[in-house]
Amino acid sequence: MNVNKILNGGLQKGLVKVKGWVRNKRGSKQTSFISVNDGSTINSIQVVAEAKKISEETIKNITTGCCVYVEGSVVNSIGSEQKFEILAEKIDVLGPADVSEYPLQPKKHSLEFLREKAHLRFRTNTFSAVFRLRHALTYAIHSFFNERGFTSIHTPIITSTDAEGAGEMFQVTNLEASGLNAKNIDYSNDFFGKKTHLTVSGQLEAELAALGLGKVYTFGPTFRAENSNTSRHLSEFWMIEPEVAFADLSDNIDLAEEFLKYCINYCLKNNLDDISFLDNRMQKEESQLKKEERSEMGLIERLNFVLKNNFVRIQYKEAIEILKNSKPNKKKKFKYIINEFGADLQSEHERYLVEKKFKKPVVITDYPKSIKAFYMRLNDDGQTVGAMDILFPTIGEIIGGSQREERLSVLKSRMREMNIEEKELWWYLETRKFGTCVHSGFGLGFERLIMFVTGMKNIRDVIPFPRTPKNANF
Ligand code: ATP
Ligand code: MN
Repeated sequence: MNVNKILNGGLQKGLVKVKGWVRNKRGSKQTSFISVNDGSTINSIQVVAEAKKISEETIKNITTGCCVYVEGSVVNSIGSEQKFEILAEKIDVLGPADVSEYPLQPKKHSLEFLREKAHLRFRTNTFSAVFRLRHALTYAIHSFFNERGFTSIHTPIITSTDAEGAGEMFQVTNLEASGLNAKNIDYSNDFFGKKTHLTVSGQLEAELAALGLGKVYTFGPTFRAENSNTSRHLSEFWMIEPEVAFADLSDNIDLAEEFLKYCINYCLKNNLDDISFLDNRMQKEESQLKKEERSEMGLIERLNFVLKNNFVRIQYKEAIEILKNSKPNKKKKFKYIINEFGADLQSEHERYLVEKKFKKPVVITDYPKSIKAFYMRLNDDGQTVGAMDILFPTIGEIIGGSQREERLSVLKSRMREMNIEEKELWWYLETRKFGTCVHSGFGLGFERLIMFVTGMKNIRDVIPFPRTPKNANF
């Protein structure tokens, strides 16, 4: 039986059987208290082992990190930390752990240290909570789209498309290294007969699918060889990209707002124990920081901030006007001063709009075409495109999306402006040539959403085995 069921189920008849890993052991010669966690919940169950039932030899072998089988009855706990505990009839050590070598002692370890022990960090409270929430979000995302009639599309991981310019790409090849050193590489000899890469986005393929299936979404791995060692970038991450035929920009924003609220609500309903644990953890961690570095909201508070507020929608040009005349606070100026139309917003500006100005999540629409991608629909002013970014507290942009350019001639002229070759995207252009229609979609970096929901500050701590420059361990 799993520990979660026991802790929520209360007293029950007969013996229960539990298997899990020992977090710590304390007690006296007569009675030992062993805390066992099986990963089903943030809470460990306390196992009481009395000398008259459990041999001294067995107790000696029960050490932090070992794996045990416990049989016993559930009883009310005398201690104040838990309601129930197991009075052990039998304990077997299934997998011993040499206490002198086990890296996870029952004390607080730094996240950096645990990153080096990524094979064992699933056994900590923090990481088990994060990965249960990662799962909850995965499940919520598929449920959300499934309930609304979307078809899930697996877009290719290996691609020859080079047009989106979303980031640096990892080349995929089976040419010998000597062949790759040649000056003029003949890619017709390469595995696919052309130069190929790992995908940086599934959007273009999702659009093809939407213009046949109506409503689709992708949820898959994405790769970017950016040499930016930040706390918000991974070389391998997961992306969710819905695409909807007959939806305009405003429908697209409605969908994104409903989607984010659904996911957050799902986690609060189903994983409140994990979120509460992480909320406490975050507040403890932040109490060590200088006042101006602390977040203004606790974790649950921040999640409710998204749930309870209608997202504010403003145009880029209005945002610029606001930012021109604003300061983040009385004493400080923005690091990057916004003074003209065409400037790209930094996260300090995004956070100002959300946290100080509107005190609500903010959607900025109609960005200048010069700072957005070729496929975004050109507005009648000829200067802006039907783009939308959704901004959240603490993190700034969480979603970027747009209405797509469905008019063949406009799309072609935008591609010319941006030096994108038509012959590379002939298949994309054919969807505009045959049966084109209004359509929109957005992209969400999955790990950024997990960071928001867990309060973790480094993206390496929300994916089991992070890939970053100079690191592909485990
Ligand atoms: P950023 O400005 O943060 O680098 P971007 O503008 O390059 O993001 P897009 O090309 O719009 O991002 O990609 C869509 C989403 O994918 C982003 O909103 C973000 O959530 C996520 N994302 C982008 N790059 C990374 C990365 N290297 N690691 C993790 N998530 C990423
Ligand atoms: Mn980027």
